[in-house]
Amino acid sequence: MAESRGRIAVIGAGPGGMAAALALFRQGFEVSIYERFAEVKAAGNILNLWPPPQKVLKIIGVDTTDLGAPCHTIFANAKGRLRADVRLPAEVEEEYGGGFIGLLRWGLYQRMLAALPEGVLRLSHNLTGLEDLGETVKLTFEGREPVVADLVIGADGINSSVRKSLWGDTPIRRQFLHLVGGWLYDEGGASGEGVIAHNRTTQVSYTPIRHEGRWGFEWWVLEAFRDRDPVPVDLLGFCQKRAVEFSPLVRELIDRTPVENMQRWEIRDRPPIRQWSRGRATLVGDAAHPTSPYAAYGAGMSIEDGYFLARELGVIDMHDTQAVKGALQAYEDRRKPHTAYVSQLAYKVGRMFHHLPGPLRPLRDQIFDRTPFLQRMVGDQMPAQILSQLAEIEESGQPMVRPLGLEPRTL
Ligand SMILES: Cc1cc2nc3c(=O)[nH]c(=O)nc-3n(C[C@H](O)[C@H](O)[C@H](O)COP(=O)(O)OP(=O)(O)OC[C@H]3O[C@@H](n4cnc5c(N)ncnc54)[C@H](O)[C@@H]3O)c2cc1C
Repeated sequence: MAESRGRIAVIGAGPGGMAAALALFRQGFEVSIYERFAEVKAAGNILNLWPPPQKVLKIIGVDTTDLGAPCHTIFANAKGRLRADVRLPAEVEEEYGGGFIGLLRWGLYQRMLAALPEGVLRLSHNLTGLEDLGETVKLTFEGREPVVADLVIGADGINSSVRKSLWGDTPIRRQFLHLVGGWLYDEGGASGEGVIAHNRTTQVSYTPIRHEGRWGFEWWVLEAFRDRDPVPVDLLGFCQKRAVEFSPLVRELIDRTPVENMQRWEIRDRPPIRQWSRGRATLVGDAAHPTSPYAAYGAGMSIEDGYFLARELGVIDMHDTQAVKGALQAYEDRRKPHTAYVSQLAYKVGRMFHHLPGPLRPLRDQIFDRTPFLQRMVGDQMPAQILSQLAEIEESGQPMVRPLGLEPRTL
């Protein structure tokens, strides 16, 4: 049997961790994912995925057939007046289902879990410590035996313990925005049209979804809150009240959604950090670049990270510490400009829609309604980011195939 290329420990079984593990496994590494919980839990209910993560999923062996509802999305005001059209070239829309696809988060997790080789996932492993020993890394877990690996990847989300142990604690950025998202099955999801709509204070939006072969819709209500405001308990009433000015369709979707299909989140992120990797450790996904849902791209970028990281590591000798450091630096140098741009754009768009002083909002809305400002800001810039990522993945868009003779083994 051929030798393994090296032992890699991935911390966290979110989209970032699973994508990194799948991509590295296909490069011939021994990979284990350590997840703190006793089961893999989808953090949230609703999701949209842009074409680049769809492309990566295919390359790393995830079945993307009928994964989500094809969707063309526009920005509009509450009365339906078009403000921005999020358009990709026709051939991209045809291949990837419009601007993005709509799905349930659990639907994505199911497909990624199904692609993971047996034994890779280690549940109930809560990382408590990390020690870089030069040639290897030693990891400690609550109530478990320590593990030694050649490399550790922190895919442990916005409150990453790996990032903290590499770079110390940095304050989380509360955006004072919150969101209630819901979903329901409905044949109307086959229409393929999604609308992101705002009035002076609030966003009330919907896109089609597809889950386990059924059509439906996801919708969300997003607005600013103050720290002293009580956390809403009656989610249905909260959303109905805010949706009054919006389209009859979105109001009907909210009315018909079972309360158990609704969830609330507070939106938080962190300003970009200068360096992700140190020694034999690096970060992917929200651990490296937590992103507000305004970009609908945090999970997507996490998935892309794993792919680009595996490409760098796949061509080096893991025993050579300098080569490992070089590969990690090349990975993050490639990823930082894109992820910082998207996460900061999402942050700024959230502020512009929800935190502008009251007297400026009528003027802002005049600009959005009557000039191409929003088209340029989101309708053109997001597709430009998407196309740049598709092209980068195109450079080696072949499915990653694990070298022959390597039996699946884990740490
Ligand atoms: C309301 C909302 C809507 C969103 N909508 C979209 C969208 O439409 N499209 C999109 O692309 N993105 C969206 N995002 C962003 C997306 O959810 C995140 O960017 C994505 O989940 C990040 O994936 P990740 O794998 O990096 O981290 P996570 O999904 O946070 O996964 C981290 C994993 O690490 C585990 N973990 C944490 N600490 C430890 C430890 N010490 N030891 C072991 N395991 C640990 C956690 O249990 C978890 O399983 C949205 C986010 C929110 C809040």
